[in-house]
Amino acid sequence: MSHFFLNNFNTLVISWILVGLITFLFLVISKTRTPYGRHSENGWGLMINNSWAWFWMEFPALIVMPIISLLGPNELNSYSMILTFIWFAHYFNRVIIFPLRIKTKNKKMPISIAISAFFFNIFNGLFNGYYVGYIMNTQSALEPNVIIGIIIFLIGMFVNVSSDNKLISLRKDSVGYKIPHGGFFKYVSCPNYFGEIIEWFGYLIIAFSLPALSFVLWTGFNLIPRALNHHEWYKENFKNYPKNRKAVIPFII
Ligand code: NDP
Repeated sequence: MSHFFLNNFNTLVISWILVGLITFLFLVISKTRTPYGRHSENGWGLMINNSWAWFWMEFPALIVMPIISLLGPNELNSYSMILTFIWFAHYFNRVIIFPLRIKTKNKKMPISIAISAFFFNIFNGLFNGYYVGYIMNTQSALEPNVIIGIIIFLIGMFVNVSSDNKLISLRKDSVGYKIPHGGFFKYVSCPNYFGEIIEWFGYLIIAFSLPALSFVLWTGFNLIPRALNHHEWYKENFKNYPKNRKAVIPFII
């Protein structure tokens, strides 16, 4: 397994990026709305509890990357610890905190969506963990790319988490959907997705690796079509939806 991975690593990751690109083109061209959350619908197989789906589908990401990166033969140092720690911090929020906080009690998600995300997280965690634990050359944690990358990652995490918090708080006294206002919602319909893309771009600047590039591309491949779907949905459902708001990248898309 280890030799196969090492010898074919770049080919495997590039193939993985191509799978993401095909998924992206399919989602955009077919205008498929990935059927969870507001786009949830029957006809996609067995439905499961929404919060549990979030926990199980993201759980591999929380453990696969940190375990492989920490157990690999590469020496542990502050640089590899930074990569592993910020990954873990992001996924601790996504796997443990986020599912406990969302107010989607009676909502269900198709198990097919949860299974595909589960496998995505295994592969993504495997590639990124393997790189850190087995392939990466060490570098000082004080290099400019590390410091700049951490700052970008933290800004992205702030935008992501604060926007998710704002959305969750809209359900304080009533179920259903409202127009979100404030923060980055002034510029885009999905600042939580924008923040997530910035986070993994920051991770790419720190790691400077093919798997990190694959992850930020996959994040865009997943979240840009979904943000376009959300944006259309808001415009269809709210006549007074702010006209100058973009979908996900301020002033651009
Ligand atoms: P959404 O923005 O669709 O929803 C986030 C939460 O807020 C859900 O609980 C949703 O409820 C609720 N919500 C959304 N809009 C409103 C509104 N207008 N009024 C009231 N409640 C609202 O995000 P996702 O569920 O798609 O994603 C959650 C997080 O996971 C995000 O931070 C995202 O960045 C991340 N993610 C990352 C991916 C990656 O590839 N790295 C892929 C997918 C998600 P409901 O579910 O009922 O709609």
